[in-house]
Amino acid sequence: MNVRCNYCRQSFNLSRDYLADALAKAKESKQKTHSVECINCRKMIKVPVAQMKRYLPEPRSED
Ligand SMILES: [Zn+2]
Repeated sequence: MNVRCNYCRQSFNLSRDYLADALAKAKESKQKTHSVECINCRKMIKVPVAQMKRYLPEPRSED
């Protein structure tokens, strides 16, 4: 999933593994956004959880 920094306009990619981990944590703490550090300027960028979900379909049977 591609993310663009609002501060320096650097764009970078988040891996599926990263998204899976971030989504699990967001779910746990009931967050609607996930903060990711920009690889260039190191500011925190807020990524909507709903947007991440679109890139990472939930597993069909977890329970
Ligand atoms: Zn940046």
